Amino acid sequence: MSPVNTRARTLTKYPGTNNSTSLPTQGVVGVVRLGAVGEAVLNIVAANLQEILRLPVDILPPRQSPEFAYNERRKQYHAALILKNLAESLRPHPRILGLVSVDLFIPVLTHVFGEAQMGGRAAVVSLHRLKQKEEGSRVSLDTFYERVVKVALHEVAHTFDLVHCNQAECIMRISSGPSDLDELPLFFCEYCEAFLAEAYRRYDIQSLPL
Ligand SMILES: [Zn+2]
Ligand SMILES: [Zn+2]
Repeated sequence: MSPVNTRARTLTKYPGTNNSTSLPTQGVVGVVRLGAVGEAVLNIVAANLQEILRLPVDILPPRQSPEFAYNERRKQYHAALILKNLAESLRPHPRILGLVSVDLFIPVLTHVFGEAQMGGRAAVVSLHRLKQKEEGSRVSLDTFYERVVKVALHEVAHTFDLVHCNQAECIMRISSGPSDLDELPLFFCEYCEAFLAEAYRRYDIQSLPL
């Protein structure tokens, strides 16, 4: 049986024209760009997180590129150091998502598209590898935005204790490359959806009405 989920299959593209001015001033998720990240992608991520996670999302003032996490030997940025830094941000947001354009790694992997603290506060997404196909040519802007939103959703869901899922139609499936990511749907399967609702209750988080 395939999971039933009829909402939010397409990307919210132009958040500025509908809900960005009505975002609550103290949401559950704060989204922040660290360094050179465009405003359009920031707005699109914030609007889609709000829509699909049903959580109020705020855009936080931009911060500098995370040079403290740069690893000279790997010429990449250590995702865990960025997470630690984000997690230490001043309250009030219970969850915080950083967007970076630098390439991220964790010690056991050559690179990561994103990383999150399991059941913690912070998540980070790198735009670095999402602009291209495996062979190096660029993808359309729509595909790029969609990939960023997918990684953002997946990582923020990890902060609510969601683990990887083996349902074919679920954003929590593991993807090993950018084209894998293109196969993922923009929603959670019914099991992950239920788990997420339970996590909101456990963390005493009020979600937005459907
Ligand atoms: Zn994951
Ligand atoms: Zn799932």
